[in-house]
Amino acid sequence: MTENTFDYIIVGGGSAGCAAAARLSAEKDCTVCLIEAGPVDNSPLIHMPLGLIGLIGSPKVNWCFNTEPEAQLNGRRLFWPRGKTLGGSSSINAMVYIRGHAKDYDDWAVQNGSQWSYSSLLKVFKEHEDNVRGGSSFHGKGGPLSVSDVLEPNPLADAFVEAGKQVGIPENRDFNGAVQEGVGFYQVTQKSGRRWSSARAFLGMAEGRPNLTVFTAARATRVILEARRAVGIEVERAGQRQVLRAKNEVILCGGAVNSPHLLLLSGIGPREMLSKHGIPLQHELPGVGQNLQDHLDMTVMVRDRSKQSIGLALSFIPRAVIGLFRYLFSRRGFLASNVSESGGFVKLHASSERPELQLHFLPTFLKDHGRKLVAGYGCTLHVCQLRPKSRGFIGLQSADPLADPLIQPNYLSHPDDAKELIEGVKLARRIFAAPAFKNINGGETEPGAEVRSDADILANIRSRAETIYHPVGTCKMGGDAMAVVDSHLRVHGIQGLRVADASIMPTLIGGNTNAPCMVIGEQAARMALAERGVAGLLKAA
Ligand SMILES: Cc1cc2nc3c(=O)[nH]c(=O)nc-3n(C[C@H](O)[C@H](O)[C@H](O)COP(=O)(O)OP(=O)(O)OC[C@H]3O[C@@H](n4cnc5c(N)ncnc54)[C@H](O)[C@@H]3O)c2cc1C
Repeated sequence: MTENTFDYIIVGGGSAGCAAAARLSAEKDCTVCLIEAGPVDNSPLIHMPLGLIGLIGSPKVNWCFNTEPEAQLNGRRLFWPRGKTLGGSSSINAMVYIRGHAKDYDDWAVQNGSQWSYSSLLKVFKEHEDNVRGGSSFHGKGGPLSVSDVLEPNPLADAFVEAGKQVGIPENRDFNGAVQEGVGFYQVTQKSGRRWSSARAFLGMAEGRPNLTVFTAARATRVILEARRAVGIEVERAGQRQVLRAKNEVILCGGAVNSPHLLLLSGIGPREMLSKHGIPLQHELPGVGQNLQDHLDMTVMVRDRSKQSIGLALSFIPRAVIGLFRYLFSRRGFLASNVSESGGFVKLHASSERPELQLHFLPTFLKDHGRKLVAGYGCTLHVCQLRPKSRGFIGLQSADPLADPLIQPNYLSHPDDAKELIEGVKLARRIFAAPAFKNINGGETEPGAEVRSDADILANIRSRAETIYHPVGTCKMGGDAMAVVDSHLRVHGIQGLRVADASIMPTLIGGNTNAPCMVIGEQAARMALAERGVAGLLKAA
């Protein structure tokens, strides 16, 4: 074997890729190579939780994509951050630990087999987890992924929970327990006041294994196919093109934007799209890049009269200085916060089977993903619709492998989606009007008191709604004509090629997507090992 040949090559060291790399390399006789386009994750902003504000627009560790103009959002191009470093998006995300609703997975299992049911995946979620609350029927202890309670929540995060209860939403102390509905505090992927990304969790566990090679600043530009078999990848490193060969498999873990993009660049995808860009067709697969789904998010903001929030104000400077020292010496204080400390899941109708809306409460003003500074003290309540019916796609801007892909989410292209988001805005307003906010709410700044009718709220949504960062579905799992991978995540019609990341979700789960992606990476590796004859890793409940 030359040093450029491995049993498994994993493209993308993000949430899924790190989990897959750790699982595969646990088998001593497997050689594994993990390729990551971004740098090592050594920025202090990654590890200090509130540093996320500095990462959101940082092209060093973030792809900083922009969508095409969105027809239903006044032609706006939306900013789409995605992690570009070891840990991927789990190194720049808001650390909320959520699995989604059990029934979302049971829906996947109908088409794809019981290994995707919630009861099967729950075992994997638990095996990954090291929950500060200890092990239970819903939680794991001793796994590589540290899951913690928020150390010192802002008092306004408590006010939000109280207000939610006052408007009739039940309290929930564990969104990943028996019931998802309710308001409460999120648990976070942190350990002792530091971010616990997928790289920390899984590459940390695999550190020092001689059979795992990690290349950073290495961008895969093409999957190399020979007679409908993936035999390696072409990589761009420091301006040089290099070929890495895979004896067993190439596993794409580049995320919902980049994995379909790489398939398209490799000639796997819709015939017309490839021919338009002069890419020779290797294998026609019409679903590549299609079925894009995301959580569109709307905010209601109020001024904070109590000045307990994280503010952009001279009077905040003493708290900021104390906070800095507290973080440096004890890893506590507001710099250890993921900002989105409390939130919830809300049913719009008593008869709803699962919550339709998710809430993220932030004790600060937040505009344009935090890229636009807002003076003063304030609170932001995010509301997103959990199961949108609108579908978009990922395509090509050009055949240049280093060009950004084309992103067209088609938000609100299905009329039902706007209705639920309008209800969400009304709910957020009721929460801010509840007694718990009486001495806090100093008046709504967004959408603004003048925005009252449903038509006005919709117009405001069109001008202000943004992604809450959960694109999925662009290499969907299934057996129909638009499916890209089968129930074992193997690309239809191609040997030795799997996709394992957010892109394989056939439908968007009701919640944040980091923990589910780690489980998808794990499942892919277990499936690959089962095919290699390693027994006992893949058990359906
Ligand atoms: C700002 C933000 C906040 C979020 N907040 C939360 C949250 O609080 N909780 C939560 O659960 N989820 C959150 N999410 C979503 C969640 O983090 C992602 O859904 C999840 O991390 C996606 O995992 P993935 O494995 O599919 O892709 P990623 O984790 O994005 O990993 C893909 C990796 O592949 C690399 N890559 C891509 N193309 C190539 C290539 N050609 N060659 C080599 N490497 C490549 C990328 O650089 C990246 O490192 C957030 C996301 C963002 C961006």
